[in-house]
Amino acid sequence: MKEQDSQKFIKALTTGDRSLMQKVPRADVHNHAALGGDFHSWVRSEGLDLKEGAHSFPDFTDFQNLVNSIFTYPYKNPTNKQLQERFFSLFAASYELAIADGVTYIEPGYDSVFLDKFDMDIELLIRKFSEQTALFKDSISIAPDIGMIRVMDLKDIERTIYPCIESGFFNALDIFADERMGPPEDFVPIYRAAKKTGMKLKAHAGELLDADFVRRSVEVLELDEVQHGISAAGSKEVMRFLEERKIRLNICPSSNIQLCQTESFKTHPIRILLDNGIKVTVNTDDAIIFGKKSSDEFFSLFETGAYSAEELDEVRLNGFPDSGL
Ligand SMILES: [Zn+2]
Repeated sequence: MKEQDSQKFIKALTTGDRSLMQKVPRADVHNHAALGGDFHSWVRSEGLDLKEGAHSFPDFTDFQNLVNSIFTYPYKNPTNKQLQERFFSLFAASYELAIADGVTYIEPGYDSVFLDKFDMDIELLIRKFSEQTALFKDSISIAPDIGMIRVMDLKDIERTIYPCIESGFFNALDIFADERMGPPEDFVPIYRAAKKTGMKLKAHAGELLDADFVRRSVEVLELDEVQHGISAAGSKEVMRFLEERKIRLNICPSSNIQLCQTESFKTHPIRILLDNGIKVTVNTDDAIIFGKKSSDEFFSLFETGAYSAEELDEVRLNGFPDSGL
């Protein structure tokens, strides 16, 4: 079966057969549950007159503003109930797009701040998440992550993250948003608590900051995987460190290009990372904003001519939990 899937994947890439590609199992291990849907279908289903944003964000604040408008438009001060409805419709849109694209394994990132946003206690929150994921579980394997927004007040993060860790519902811990704020050292006790429960440890690093920040995040937080981590390509030493520790980078090429961290698929540092023995996966990050599905990411990389289909098949396989990590 595995062998046949690889053959199908290679054939889909080399012949440009998008419908065949969607029949090959793929994983998406770096995507945010509230931002993984298809913009146009979601806006239509919600009856919103929201316009699609730009596909280039030289300023990270413009990206954050667009995210906020998806979360709250057209409300000025949405109620907890309005936020709850909005987010659950966005979560559903993420699962629907992944399934339509043939993704078979997903690690969607939820945020600890949802406890506050929906004004729920942890039992109710987990029950609501479980009820929704149960609707999709026959079509896709779901291993949810819980993330912290690093720009939030640390006290609010601590109040909301510990119940999420203790709930046992989440597969992995993550931290995200502008990495220039909220140094990794602040989160050490939280990461240690998650490690004790057996959760996988991830963090966004090396998306906006340099290779040394990737290394520092891995060391300080004892990470298993890095979300993005692309700036590691700028340092042989840091790449050697990641390779020796077998740290996997969960990369989202369209996100990196549209947030102006690299110019194009052709210049994307995945090539350098692979050449230095780093294990990588290819993912979507925020499909509702970047407008690209998992299959699109693989096709765009292949079309550069810089990767063989066999090499990208290995990248595809890296995303599954049994990939030998
Ligand atoms: Zn991300």
